[in-house]
Amino acid sequence: MYVHEISLEIKSNVDKDTLVDDFNLLMAFYRSNGQTQGKIESQFLQNNRISSLPFSLEKDSLKAKNNNKYVNNQIEKIQLLAKSTISIETKGKTYKNYTGACRCKKPEFYILITNYITIESPLTCGTCNNSVPLYTLPKYKDDGYMPILGWETNYQSCDSLQMNCEVGERWALNQMQELSSQLSKQGVVICKQIEEQTAVPTFYYLFNYKKYKGDEQNRPCPNCGKKWNLKTQLHGLYDFKCENCKIVSNLSSYS
Ligand SMILES: [Zn+2]
Ligand SMILES: [Zn+2]
Repeated sequence: MYVHEISLEIKSNVDKDTLVDDFNLLMAFYRSNGQTQGKIESQFLQNNRISSLPFSLEKDSLKAKNNNKYVNNQIEKIQLLAKSTISIETKGKTYKNYTGACRCKKPEFYILITNYITIESPLTCGTCNNSVPLYTLPKYKDDGYMPILGWETNYQSCDSLQMNCEVGERWALNQMQELSSQLSKQGVVICKQIEEQTAVPTFYYLFNYKKYKGDEQNRPCPNCGKKWNLKTQLHGLYDFKCENCKIVSNLSSYS
């Protein structure tokens, strides 16, 4: 990923702590528009300068062309308050070989998937397996991509519970691996909406940590009961894909 420094020199008499809160709100708008990744940035005040160091999927994620009206309005507001212009500088990449986000002209399909630790986009490209920056999708809701990010937070909360193993582990696991759970239903609705808006088939990733007796490879799709095993594993991760039900999954590591 890329790390940027967004900063603002305070040239007015505005209360600095108030401006810090408004700056924070700008960072929240960038996040809900899919322009920055992760839930919190290093943000600090040094003399008359407020700075923040967000992650992004693309080098130009923070370019004005990707802003929505909330981002633009908030930039305008803090610039007026501080009587100066914000500056955005790319500081570097997380890895030398970081290749960036999906740039496929026509992805064959998308997958809605996340886990407790990642700060990648919850949408990946089925063709290149890279993250899809949410701001590259058609506008999801007026104020950004919060419904998708809301599902992401719910999923990550469940995954954290099942990883920690002490509180609500079984409940959380069922949320993640049952297609009828509230979590899966919420995710499936999002997949349908993304597919409607983009015309790209969008699959829901169903977690699988069940104990199977017999040949798991040949177990049918849990929704329609048809054959769904892939001949070869996809992207080193997916072993099952149902074209009817638009779900993907993998062999259980528990069996
Ligand atoms: Zn791609
Ligand atoms: Zn199916």
